[in-house]
Amino acid sequence: MSKIKVLDKNMINMIAAGEVIERPASVVKEMLENSIDAGAKNIIVKIEDGGKRLISVTDDGCGIAKEDIPVAFEPHATSKIKTIDDLTAIKSMGFRGEALASIGSIAKVRIVSREKDAIEAYAQEIDCSEKSAVMPASSSYGTTIEVRDIFYKLPARRKFLRASSTEMTHITEQFTRIALSNCNIGFTLIHNDRQKYRLHPTDNVVSRIKTLMNEQIASDLLSIETKEKDIKIKAYIGMPANARSNNKYQYTFLNGRFIRDKFIIHAIKEAYRGLIEPNKHPVAFLFIEMPYDSYDVNVHPSKIEIRFDNSSLVHSQILGIIKEKLRSIELDVVSSFDNLTAQNGNIAADATISRSEYIRRERIKDAMENFFTKSSKPISTQGKFSFNHSTANNAGANRSQRISEDLPKSYYNTDSVDIAQNQPDKKNTILQIHNSYIIYQTPDGFAIVDQHALHERIIYEKLCDRLVRNQKPLESQKLLIPEPIDLTTAQQQAIEDNKETFNKLGIDIEQFGPKSCAVHSFPTLLKDANISSFVQDLLDVLMDSTITPDAEKLLHSIMDMTACKAAIKAGKPLSNEEMVQLLRDKELVDRASRCPHGRPTTIKFTIEELEKKFKRTGF
Ligand code: ADP
Ligand code: MG
Repeated sequence: MSKIKVLDKNMINMIAAGEVIERPASVVKEMLENSIDAGAKNIIVKIEDGGKRLISVTDDGCGIAKEDIPVAFEPHATSKIKTIDDLTAIKSMGFRGEALASIGSIAKVRIVSREKDAIEAYAQEIDCSEKSAVMPASSSYGTTIEVRDIFYKLPARRKFLRASSTEMTHITEQFTRIALSNCNIGFTLIHNDRQKYRLHPTDNVVSRIKTLMNEQIASDLLSIETKEKDIKIKAYIGMPANARSNNKYQYTFLNGRFIRDKFIIHAIKEAYRGLIEPNKHPVAFLFIEMPYDSYDVNVHPSKIEIRFDNSSLVHSQILGIIKEKLRSIELDVVSSFDNLTAQNGNIAADATISRSEYIRRERIKDAMENFFTKSSKPISTQGKFSFNHSTANNAGANRSQRISEDLPKSYYNTDSVDIAQNQPDKKNTILQIHNSYIIYQTPDGFAIVDQHALHERIIYEKLCDRLVRNQKPLESQKLLIPEPIDLTTAQQQAIEDNKETFNKLGIDIEQFGPKSCAVHSFPTLLKDANISSFVQDLLDVLMDSTITPDAEKLLHSIMDMTACKAAIKAGKPLSNEEMVQLLRDKELVDRASRCPHGRPTTIKFTIEELEKKFKRTGF
């Protein structure tokens, strides 16, 4: 008996729809791209119920001819590709001719369109591929497509749609990508009759970034513009201090199309190496223009992945320009550091520096004061110790190197202390080097502890204890003055959606004005952390999780981040008592030899190993 059947047209469309249309946000993306391809100057997106009830896009583009309306909803129907040559150099956003056919197969659709020179508009309704006749309608120039009840005949697909707020977050992201790369077009986004964004056409990208992102992301962007070997790049990059805990705030556009490319992501990260913590991601907006035939967009249906003919050229060019820009600002930092030394720390008066820079300088000041009070002789009287002011760049390096060579022993906290309770007779020597590592004697050798990694591990275990094992919220403290934070609408939504997580962490946060929130209480554990940047990073983690939701994993990544922020930083001088306390806590913590990120917290050396090493040098 024959078992093979040719699928009917509806089935084929529905299967194709599965590839292109994953969720309401995919519909928004496809329809916005069509409007842009149609030359629209103003586009209005109306959403109801996260797109589950309605997605409507209205544009003032070229419109569709009466006889083309039914054809537009046929699979593989496109006005954008005519010959093979067109396919090798794609200039339009769409070209596969499958979006409208897919959308028409999974929802109730109504299209109304009027060409620029037509006296009448025409409308058609399509209900899961069932088409009505094309009828005259009244409308101004351009096209409106309304998509209702997405996946209503496919309950298995509809079940996978998430809460309206989550779907709206995805829609907002698609809207943001398209709005960022088409500044010359006006965009409006309305959700449940409330206007989320109204963007006027502009030639100022930064102002659009400011409207779409929060203030912190958009502040202090450095701009770069270059053209080399047919590749034109305009970039707006964030200061290292503004780096984030995920790469959500990296937007790359290639000839106006949002792309994600591993070579570009790598180049951006590489350019910031040494300037940001390894687990942080820089903020960067890259607009690349290059010949259409030097890459292939026809790799994936969503066209986010592309293939460059010469990816290493793209990589090296991006790496080069960002590195150069960062190097130019790094020099400023060094010279202000020198001023700081000269003025002996009178820095609060400078009103032009940012808050994070102020905090950084204060830390340097504290560390220096600490250093001077601990050191038995003032640095300047030590013959060998001198700064070379003419090479400002090397001053820092010289300094730390010299400190370890020349300082009197008393600086190192070499007093004997008892750290291991299980060996009460043994007197151990314990010392801190480079304000970052603690060295102590063990029964059969010595160990080096990374102070930040160990403390991070200890806090992580304590958090696990409280939040996971005992299910208790973190202890928190009411703030004297609530701390206001600038947020995007998507971030505000994420706070609404994650109220429980905020409660668990002891963060009391409430909406405060249209684009900001105020923090009323904050965990005591994080008393030294910057509240705004903690909340921003927390939101990055939470918003990332909407893609792969796993409550347990999420809580662990939040605990990771919290532990990292609350832990003693590398570079912080510790008193003897603090070091002893840290090493005592180490005993209490299981598996304490690794920090939450899997890096070791302690490295042990045995006398045996040392002897081997020294014997070898003897030969
Ligand atoms: P593609 O964009 O890949 O060509 P689509 O299925 O998205 O395929 O659209 C099919 C065709 O319908 C397009 O090629 C275009 O001619 C027409 N079209 C779709 N949306 C619009 C619009 N908003 N304005 C004008 N024409 C449109
Ligand atoms: Mg299209």
